[in-house]
Amino acid sequence: MRKDVRILLVGEPKVGKTSLIMSLVSEEFPEEVPLRAEEITIPADVTPERVPTHIVDYSEAEQSDEQLYHEISKANVICIVYSVNNKKSIEKVTSHWIPLINDRTDKDSRVPLILVGNKSDLVEHSSMETILPIMNQYSDIETCVECSAKNLKNISELFYYAQKAVLHPTGPLYCPEEKEMKPPCIKALTRIFKVSDLDNDGILNDNELNFFQRTCFNMPLAPQALEDVKNVVRRNMSDGVRDNGLTLKGFLFLHTLFIQRGRHETTWTVLRRFGYDDDLELTQEYLFPMLKIPMDCTTELNHNAYLFLQSVFDKHDKDRDCALSPEELKDLFRVFPYMPWGPDVNNTVCTNEQGWITYQGYLSQWTLTTYLDVQRCLEYLGYLGYSIICEQESQAAAITVTRNKRIDLQKKQTQRSVFRCNIFGARGSGKSGFLQAFLGRNLMRQKNIREDHKSYYAISTTYVYGQEKYLLLHEVIPDSDFPSDSDLCCDVVCLLYDISNPHSFEYCAKVYKQHFMDSKTPCMVIAAKSDLHEARQLYSLSPAEFCRKHKLHPPQPFTCSTADAPSRDIYMKLTTIAMYPHARLRCMCTCNRCTFCICQNLLNSELLRSVKTKLYTAVINRHVTQGDMKSSSFWLRASVGATVFAVLGFAMYRALLKPR
Ligand code: GDP
Ligand code: MG
Repeated sequence: MRKDVRILLVGEPKVGKTSLIMSLVSEEFPEEVPLRAEEITIPADVTPERVPTHIVDYSEAEQSDEQLYHEISKANVICIVYSVNNKKSIEKVTSHWIPLINDRTDKDSRVPLILVGNKSDLVEHSSMETILPIMNQYSDIETCVECSAKNLKNISELFYYAQKAVLHPTGPLYCPEEKEMKPPCIKALTRIFKVSDLDNDGILNDNELNFFQRTCFNMPLAPQALEDVKNVVRRNMSDGVRDNGLTLKGFLFLHTLFIQRGRHETTWTVLRRFGYDDDLELTQEYLFPMLKIPMDCTTELNHNAYLFLQSVFDKHDKDRDCALSPEELKDLFRVFPYMPWGPDVNNTVCTNEQGWITYQGYLSQWTLTTYLDVQRCLEYLGYLGYSIICEQESQAAAITVTRNKRIDLQKKQTQRSVFRCNIFGARGSGKSGFLQAFLGRNLMRQKNIREDHKSYYAISTTYVYGQEKYLLLHEVIPDSDFPSDSDLCCDVVCLLYDISNPHSFEYCAKVYKQHFMDSKTPCMVIAAKSDLHEARQLYSLSPAEFCRKHKLHPPQPFTCSTADAPSRDIYMKLTTIAMYPHARLRCMCTCNRCTFCICQNLLNSELLRSVKTKLYTAVINRHVTQGDMKSSSFWLRASVGATVFAVLGFAMYRALLKPR
């Protein structure tokens, strides 16, 4: 809303402009008035709309035309005063004042006008008959009022209307010629209806109406008032009320009625509460609330935000198949001014057999947006009405800014739940296959992906020591402005080569030596296409030797040429390394026999859910300490310790089973 309101009074001499102002200020009729009153400012707290209001007088005798034009251009609302007992002063309204004002204001940003008939104490009849045709002719005339400076009739009303004309203009809302709301207003109210229709059944039931009422006006509707509202709609249209709730049609009708009855501030209150400005656009402050993100911190959605997004998903997953069909997705984004998710999203997150985004995939995509582009995430949450539905100050309340990564590294623990892995590899080495395999797609299924629907990101969840974490994979394109800052900045790096192509490892070795050898980012070498015949790499060292020399984990064989969904082990390992870069995992195999594998499997077993937290911290601590100590004898002791622990784990597991 505006910060202040400037009201200008114009009109023929002697119609009572100065007297009106003086009467308002002193609350009595001044017999003697100067030609022109000084500009006065009414402080915010004594005006009905709580905004400072300046009232400016005009006197032909004291002011030049230039001065008048200047005042007209500064005014937010202009009262054209006439005297009800002076025909000439009424004629001048249309012959002089309205054209003069219109010539001096922009066609698109006309100031609202108010026709003021003063000296009503002098006549028996009303001037309305003469005035109404003028009102109909000029749409800039917001309203008209008859008053008397002498007996103080309608004086404060006059200034209230003037204030209201500025603060709650009807122009953007309503078309008086058509007698209906303007399209942008209908669009905004339709979005508001959709956001408020919490169960998405197309009807605002009593609960939803009450929530709406409370959100907009800070108070619930009394049950009787609720009935009255519905009855008004029932009386006027057949399909405004259905199943004892308000349909969109009924909702729009109510607002039309408010506006037609001069209660358009009600509609404005609703619009503003939902983030709209005077042009019926969502404001920048609403869509992009301040959020500071210091260096080395990342952005994630917090628990409440996930709950909200879950409810949004649920209300649109009409057939309850835990996936959004194209229709359902379109419906979900109907409160957006544009479709935010393109077909590439289907190749960034998990989908079902039909290729529809699953619940899991939907949350993953939100997680990705929050991580990569938090401003966009705030904007999207704004369209969904997050702050309103969740009764939060702003969308910023949905975001967790994580602790500086350096501190995480120092303390060797992290609260983060999203980790980024950048994949480097020569052209054709199998990076995209590696991304798609994370979404459960084998080579066969990947063949169906259209080139223009391709994504360079993939995100899904993995379990690390029983905790669900998001792993965000990013394929780094070898030839594009390589490498950018974001290419190098991640939690774990994959250096991926094609075992069947003798030229492919060289690229990995080069990238490692150039960018990661001296960095703290952990790296993992992936031997992709492990189903194919292995060729000797044309590089001075074999991949295994290279890894040994640089103290990297041995190359991890990987293939997505599988009958079922490809194995997820590698992604779990990557997430683990991303979370605990200090930890030198004792074993990176999946033999299911060694200590690490046993612990992992143990922790992932369903029955151990409740003790998991304790267990995994113990395991982590063990692995972290292992990483710190370089001596081989320690490795030996630690692994014995871990075995003991694993046995202990089994004991706890049995103890757990007992009471059940
Ligand atoms: P201005 O030139 O438009 O500023 O008009 P003034 O305020 O100077 O008023 C002109 C004359 O009309 C003065 O003699 C006022 O006392 C008188 N007047 C102003 N308002 C009223 C009113 O409401 N009723 C009556 N009866 N006289 C008024
Ligand atoms: Mg005057």
